[in-house]
Amino acid sequence: MTSPLFGQMMDVPLLASSLISHAARHFGDTEIVSRRIEGDIHRYTWRDCEQRAKQLSQALIGLGVQRGERVATLAWNGYRHLECYYGVSGMGAVCHTINPRLFPDQVAFIVNHADDEYVAFDMTFATLVDIIAPQCPNVKGWIALGDESCISTHLADMATPVLSYETLLAKHDGDYEWPVFDERSASFLCYTSGTTGNPKGALYTHRSTVLHAFGASLPDAMGCSARDAILPVVPMFHVNAWGIPHATALVGAKLVLPGNCLDGKALYELMEAEGVTFSAGVPTVWLGLLNYVKQADVRFNTLKRTVIGGSACPPAMLRSFEDDYGVEVIHAWGMTEMSPLGTLAKLTWSQQQRSPEEQRHLREKQGHVIFGVDMKVVGDDGRELPWDGKSFGDLHVRGPWVINRYFRKDDSPLIDGWFPTGDVATIDADGFMHITDRSKDVIKSGGEWISSIDLENVMMSHPQVAEAACIACSHPKWTERPLVVVVLRPGATVTRGGTACVLRWQGGEMVEARRCRFRR
Ligand code: AMP
Repeated sequence: MTSPLFGQMMDVPLLASSLISHAARHFGDTEIVSRRIEGDIHRYTWRDCEQRAKQLSQALIGLGVQRGERVATLAWNGYRHLECYYGVSGMGAVCHTINPRLFPDQVAFIVNHADDEYVAFDMTFATLVDIIAPQCPNVKGWIALGDESCISTHLADMATPVLSYETLLAKHDGDYEWPVFDERSASFLCYTSGTTGNPKGALYTHRSTVLHAFGASLPDAMGCSARDAILPVVPMFHVNAWGIPHATALVGAKLVLPGNCLDGKALYELMEAEGVTFSAGVPTVWLGLLNYVKQADVRFNTLKRTVIGGSACPPAMLRSFEDDYGVEVIHAWGMTEMSPLGTLAKLTWSQQQRSPEEQRHLREKQGHVIFGVDMKVVGDDGRELPWDGKSFGDLHVRGPWVINRYFRKDDSPLIDGWFPTGDVATIDADGFMHITDRSKDVIKSGGEWISSIDLENVMMSHPQVAEAACIACSHPKWTERPLVVVVLRPGATVTRGGTACVLRWQGGEMVEARRCRFRR
């Protein structure tokens, strides 16, 4: 008997696999273009992507991966990483994207905390895998995202035994039905180091992933469309590239993935060659792109709009994109705990009737919420502050794609059902939020977090140091850089030099990770 209280619509769960099957069935010929770490350009379609994602699901099932278990990735933006997104989550396992820019100890901590069964990695991360593998005894296998010949050419020196992704896929035919299960099942896992202490995991549900893809695609959000060719510069290891791999499947857009070539020239050339209309990334990347187009004296022939977020968009960058190059800038704010989109600075019809200065002033703020997110600022007494654009307080959010609890943490971070973001903000009468400060002890440099507490602890462990304070300094390229101020112990003297952990990168590849002494 059906209760008269319930409506009579199909009860179809919102699953990540529904995104890829929709793209494959209804936009099957639409292209996904990737700059491979092998150096060439790879192109195929959403239909091919689903086929290979299903082959991956079959391979993982063959390896014994069960629903709910974690399979991790250490990878750049590319088609194999996209197949991991859908192949892992589609079969009901959890796709855990790891940020390879973290210190190796942190990466090992994350792999162990997540209890990853397998880790799929781009070959550029072979050194990192060799460093962390001995610390991660529970990982059942390390899967190199390449074929046997690439492995024998590039990974011959690896100490860790690896499996070939292409060999695993080749054993399966992709004749596989996506399983149907509860939409509240876990889909993706992302750790954030934007908190104090060890990185913490945000475990998304299939429901939150799909709802976020809907929200992110709205015209007044990122406005993704089948008319677009979309290039996410924001890495797929950072909050699921702001949901773009899901939103592009939802709307059937062309997807362009830049691999590990993120310098201004490489990005510009890929955008022009593939007719990219829309892109998204952090200010540091856009600075590199703007510098390149200025120096090379070239124009954007297809790029129409770009989302800038992750750190505050400098007003000069907004002006340069729009006034010099005719590219619309959409300033956005969000966080890992919010899947990540929260607000975007897009204007309503009536706001567009205001003077150009007033419009720009509004658009420099972090913006207005999209449906799915509610926000408020609260004072020290926990009471909501007025939306007057002046009263600043802690920014709290809630909604169906906002975190409820960190992965494997018992205590809830919520206050009266709201998540405290650690950002300090105002909200004005237009409902536009503006971040004025941060209450969390972290510094964001080039889109990546540096813990001020960790740095202070390192300084304080020095026998000559009595007190240390780490502060953020503004920096033209990196947005913020840490500056540590110390008080010496009585009788201590200052000398130049010390020890540091050095990570050396070359063309997007981490070629060295070591502790060293330095002198200046
Ligand atoms: P993450 O979880 O690494 O994506 O970092 C989220 C945090 O980055 C937010 O809580 C803010 O502190 C900061 N953030 C993100 N977007 C912006 C923005 N548009 N302006 C200022 N800070 C931002």
